[in-house]
Order: sequence, then C-alpha cells, then structure tokens
Amino acid sequence: MNFTFSSEHKLIQETAKEFANNELLKGVIDRDENKTFPKDQIKMMGEMGFLGMMVDPKYGGGGMDTISYVLAMEEISKIDASCSVIMSVNNSLVCWGIEKFGSDAQKEKFLPKLARGNMIGAFCLSEPEAGSDATSQKTTAIDKGDHYLINGTKNWITNGSTASIYLVIAQTDVEKGHKGINAFIVEKDSAGITVGPRENKLGIRSSDTTSIMFSDVQVPKENRIGEDGFGFKFAMKTLEGGRIGIASQALGIASGAYELCLKYAQERKAFGKEIYKHQAISFMLADMATEIDCARLLCLKAAWQKDNNINYAEASSMAKLYCAEKAMKITTDAVQIHGGYGFVKEYHVERLMRDAKITQIYEGTSEIQKLVISRSILK
Ligand SMILES: Cc1cc2nc3c(=O)[nH]c(=O)nc-3n(C[C@H](O)[C@H](O)[C@H](O)COP(=O)(O)OP(=O)(O)OC[C@H]3O[C@@H](n4cnc5c(N)ncnc54)[C@H](O)[C@@H]3O)c2cc1C
Repeated sequence: MNFTFSSEHKLIQETAKEFANNELLKGVIDRDENKTFPKDQIKMMGEMGFLGMMVDPKYGGGGMDTISYVLAMEEISKIDASCSVIMSVNNSLVCWGIEKFGSDAQKEKFLPKLARGNMIGAFCLSEPEAGSDATSQKTTAIDKGDHYLINGTKNWITNGSTASIYLVIAQTDVEKGHKGINAFIVEKDSAGITVGPRENKLGIRSSDTTSIMFSDVQVPKENRIGEDGFGFKFAMKTLEGGRIGIASQALGIASGAYELCLKYAQERKAFGKEIYKHQAISFMLADMATEIDCARLLCLKAAWQKDNNINYAEASSMAKLYCAEKAMKITTDAVQIHGGYGFVKEYHVERLMRDAKITQIYEGTSEIQKLVISRSILK
C-alpha cells in the first residue's frame, strides 16, 4: 500500500485549490442567489483543462488519471459545487462515455471541443416517470433507415440549456425491454428540440437544470453510440464512473464546510473561551475529520480501481453513498458550529448544506446505491 500522492497529483490538487480560491470564491454567493450560470468561470475551467481531465491528449484532453480528477473535484467543490457538477457531467459522463464507447468519428468530432470547454455536454437519462427506474424509458428512437426519429421528454438535465450536445438514452424496441434501448449524440441545434425553463432549486442553484423536449428530432445513424441495443449498458457503465465524480463533489462540499468550521471554532468565543475549547464542538470537529478521511479514501479507492481496470461498480456506489450521507451530516453540523451566523449567506455553510442535499439524489439516490451494493455483496 502507498498512501502518498505523486508530485503530479500534488500539483493538480494545488492548482485546483488556487484556482477555486482565486476565481470561484468571488461572486459565489451572488451566483447562488441569482441562479447565475458561471459562464466566465466555466470558460476558465475549460482553458485550464478541468473539463476534459481524463481525455486522451490526442483529443485535446489532459490525459490524467481518475485520482487526479478526484483531487481536482474535491478542491473545486469546496468553493462552488455548481461549477463542480458542470465539471463532473462534462468529464465523467459526456467525455468519458464518448471516449470509451464512441466511434472514432464521434471522438474526433466532439472530444476536442468538449475537452477544452469550447462546448459542454449533457447526459439525458431521467424522464418525468423514469428516475431511479431508468428502464422505464418513454422517450422513443424509431429506426428510419439512415436516421432515428426521437420523441419524448427528458427531465432534470444538468447543462440543459447551456450544452451544445446531449447524450440521449431512448427506447428503440419496446419488446426487447432494456435491451432495446439506445444512446445517441444529439446536437442541440437539431430541429424539434425545446428546452424548458431553468429549475429554481434548493442547491447548486447556479448550475443549469432543465427539461428537454424532443419532437420528431432526426438523428443520423452514425450518432448512435455502440451496437444496436447497447444504450442501457452504456448509461449504467457511464454512471459507474460518474458516481466517483459525484462522490468527490460530496467530499469537497463536506471538507469545505469542515475547513470553515476549523477556522471559525478557533476565532469565535463563548463563555470566555474559543468555542473549540468546549468539548461538544471539538468532538464534532473530530467526527468531521474522521468521516472526511474515510470519505476521501473511498473516493480514491474507487478511482484507483478504475485506473487499474478493476471492476469499480461496487466501490463507486460505496463512495457515492458514504460521501453523500456524510456531506449532508457534516454540513448540517457546520451550520450548528457557526450558530446564528451559520444561518446566513455570508458564512457559506448554509449554501454548502443546501448543495450537499443533491448528492444524495442524482446519479442514483442513496437508496439506489444501497441496492447496487447489496446486489453486489449478495450475488
Ligand atoms: C439538480 C438535479 C440535476 C440532475 N441532473 C441530471 C442529469 O444531468 N441527467 C439525468 O439523466 N438526470 C439528472 N437528474 C435526475 C436524477 O438522477 C433523479 O432525480 C434521480 O435519479 C431520482 O429519480 P426521481 O427524481 O425520479 O426519484 P424516484 O425514482 O421517483 O425516487 C423517489 C424516492 O423513492 C426511492 N426509490 C425509488 N426506487 C426505489 C427502490 N427500488 N428501492 C428503494 N427506494 C427507491 C428513491 O430513492 C427516492 O427516495 C438530476 C436531478 C436533479 C434534482
């Protein structure tokens, strides 16, 4: 076992930390309050290589490993989880999905722009009646010879109005159930696409979440990803990696809140001493530190398994489940440690608490992670 980071890993961690503190911290409260999409920040993230970290350099990516991605995601998420969800979707769902399963032509056409942030992508699986039960796809993709005709509605799509391409999962052959599902790369400017209004959310408010309606949208056959019927497997495999991204997002939200608490507990006085000298507070900090260490190790283990081609389905679900649950607990305690000040926006912890909640829901709820883990350990 080796628990030390390489000098490259340390450099990536340091670069992401510096970037987040210098470029994302300013304005984060206003962006959250006004639901302002972080356009300039995402542009800078693209230029710095944060949007295509694992993509092969021949397609303009950083060619980095998943460990590097976890380290960068944690640092960005400490400061702005709206930016980190955009980063996570683009890296681990869209870029990875295309690079791993796409054709050479698809990779050459889309990856260079995605990796540098000249375009961002969205992953469209959920529907009004298909969330956890992703096999109940109502969106159809009918084979018309040289193209497919897509009809249906996707819900809760991150980057819905800002993405230039959508990875769309749709049912081609109902008779075949989940084996009749396909995945397509759909360009946003295709005729027949309507983007719904941006959702007014509890957390990650400056990220862009919309529904997307497809009405007789023609998609060329060459935009299908993989063999006919591969779409459900594509979605599940892609989400396995995506969950490492969301686990690191939850980790970053938790460690960001913890770092604010450490500082505050040494400054704020009550009953004639700094509040950390009250055991109730120091024990809360001790729990936070221990849980964050566990969370980070689970993320890094899942990332390491992925980098070493070891099945990581169970590991990524464990990481996501644990990190999300701890992020919710730690951020709630962080508000408590800050007392009344924690309840107002200026101290950041209330935003982190609101942002933590979504990590228990998207890319598979905590209950669905338990389903994946229990199936894996009981098989
Ligand atoms: C801000 C935001 C961004 C999102 N981004 C995207 C995106 O980019 N792309 C995308 O495709 N989707 C996205 N989603 C959708 C998200 O993945 C779904 O909301 C999530 O999978 C849950 O589905 P649902 O909302 O339909 O809840 P449901 O599936 O209806 O679940 C409701 C409750 O029932 C529980 N439940 C359901 N089935 C079971 C079961 N078998 N056992 C135990 N409990 C169960 C769930 O855990 C949950 O507590 C996003 C959602 C949000 C809110």
